[in-house]
Amino acid sequence: MAAAPIRYRIVPIDPAAHLFEVRCTVENPDLQGQRVALPAWIPGSYMIREFARNIVSIRAQSGRKTVTLRKIDKHTWQTEPCDGPLTVTAQVYAWDLSVRGAHLDRTHAFFNGTCMFLRVVGQEARACELEILPPAGRAYAKWRVATAMRRKRAPAYGFGLYQARDYDELIDHPVEMGTFTLATFKAHGVPHDIAITGRHRADMERLCRDLKRVCEWQIDLFGRPAPMERYAFLVMAVGEGYGGLEHRASTALLCSRDDLPTVDSKGTNEAYRGFLGLCSHEYFHTWNVKRIKPDVFSPYQLDTENYTSLLWAFEGFTSYYDDLALVRSGLITPNEYLETLARAITQLQRAGGRMKQTVSESSWDAWIKYYRQDENAPNAIVSYYGKGSLIALCLDALIRQRTRGRKSLDDVMRLLWQRHGLTGAGVPENGIERIAEEVAGTRLRAFFDKALRSTAELPLGQCLQQLGVELKLRVAESHSDRGGKASARSPQQLASRGSFGARITANGGDVKLANVYNGGAAEKAGLSAGDIVVAVDGLRVAAKEFESRIAARKPGDLLRVHAFRRDELHEFEVTLQAPRVDTCELSFTPRRTRVQRAWVDDA
Ligand code: ZN
Repeated sequence: MAAAPIRYRIVPIDPAAHLFEVRCTVENPDLQGQRVALPAWIPGSYMIREFARNIVSIRAQSGRKTVTLRKIDKHTWQTEPCDGPLTVTAQVYAWDLSVRGAHLDRTHAFFNGTCMFLRVVGQEARACELEILPPAGRAYAKWRVATAMRRKRAPAYGFGLYQARDYDELIDHPVEMGTFTLATFKAHGVPHDIAITGRHRADMERLCRDLKRVCEWQIDLFGRPAPMERYAFLVMAVGEGYGGLEHRASTALLCSRDDLPTVDSKGTNEAYRGFLGLCSHEYFHTWNVKRIKPDVFSPYQLDTENYTSLLWAFEGFTSYYDDLALVRSGLITPNEYLETLARAITQLQRAGGRMKQTVSESSWDAWIKYYRQDENAPNAIVSYYGKGSLIALCLDALIRQRTRGRKSLDDVMRLLWQRHGLTGAGVPENGIERIAEEVAGTRLRAFFDKALRSTAELPLGQCLQQLGVELKLRVAESHSDRGGKASARSPQQLASRGSFGARITANGGDVKLANVYNGGAAEKAGLSAGDIVVAVDGLRVAAKEFESRIAARKPGDLLRVHAFRRDELHEFEVTLQAPRVDTCELSFTPRRTRVQRAWVDDA
């Protein structure tokens, strides 16, 4: 006889107060007293979030009898000895409109299981059943449910009973309820839903058509059949927002409504390219990190940090393939792809932190650094997303070169899938390097030592040349110049603009220094992040004109700057520096070889 499942029930009990009620019933609790715990973090987002802080009240009972609950640490409770069945009921506050949390009001409900479902300690392997109920009242009669969780006794997109193989699966299917827009397409036979919440005018047919191409391309990359029975894109469209979180058969996305294509939009504009890139990124994680995982994630330890030095591969390779999948599936042109790639290179070139931190370290310390960035982050941190994606690019070029185009990074992904994805065996810390060497048929130790464990520059120019691409670096035209496009100005004109060495934000109309770069003019003059600059050379300056005032001056010019630090006015002498050559342009070399063309032209 199969062991009784753990039974959960969730109700948005008070949408106006943003409260869910969540029940968990355990047929056979630990007779010594059952422990239950809420995760401290959500897989995919490497930061301790302490979801238990949103539990407003919690009680336990067995039959009609109240069972005493004792809290033993910040997210764990223990019951008095009881012989079950045991029911623990919690009220959970949900007012976090992010892909990592839970959000409830009268318009919709969204939750991640990590925020809601108590883990029954010792019974994590048991099957789970989840009853999802609507809020009470006629106002909610039209609500539906979107999730990739398997239905047990519920109509399609309806309220009722759902099921998961175990706790790990239960918390890996976010759920959206409300009056979202819904469209469905099939990718190699697998049904894929797109549910969009929030006001929008998205062209659902176009979205289905485009996403189908990316999804099918990715399924083909790893090999059919796809590893999931169905998939759901749960999208929250807002005025301004961006974010995504991957799950085994779905993703939760936050986007600006203007990123979505409408029936009258022509072509694929930059905003929509960004949205497609985000969808592609999270979808790629279905293989890379949800099934091919670091050893330490198999299984996740949900009450504490799980350290790995491999996020440069799990996030970096995913970041490489997200846009690459768009060009290879024909959704963007090779030239549009180069523009995106040039921006990634520009971003890395501008990050002084790449000289301080290696990607291995960045990955290991994600919990306290990448996810907790402060004003000094640009000086101290390198992104394992950005640099990781460029390491993937170099590796792809290296493998293509050493195997004369017979193999590529695609083969590394496929081998990882065969060895670790299909088997469920975790990837050891040196596992990616080993498999890359196996595919390349040669030692890559020197490359990896440099790329992963040093702060030396990546051999980008050389690797891009292997792929038939020429890299040029120049000075930025303005703060809004993110690279990727040729400048109409001559190198002399660009080099004649003075550099202040800080990123500014508008604080009301004032100039606030958001980041002050190590070794730059502002830092040398003694200015700090947080300072409010009010005057340059005795004349009041506002945020909107600051950049043009500085750009009109030459490197070497001395400026008298007045700035408030707290409420004290200070004067600084700033000697403008020469601008940095940190903005990237890429172009295809004429007459590329067949091997070179195979990189992005093999749609
Ligand atoms: Zn990611």
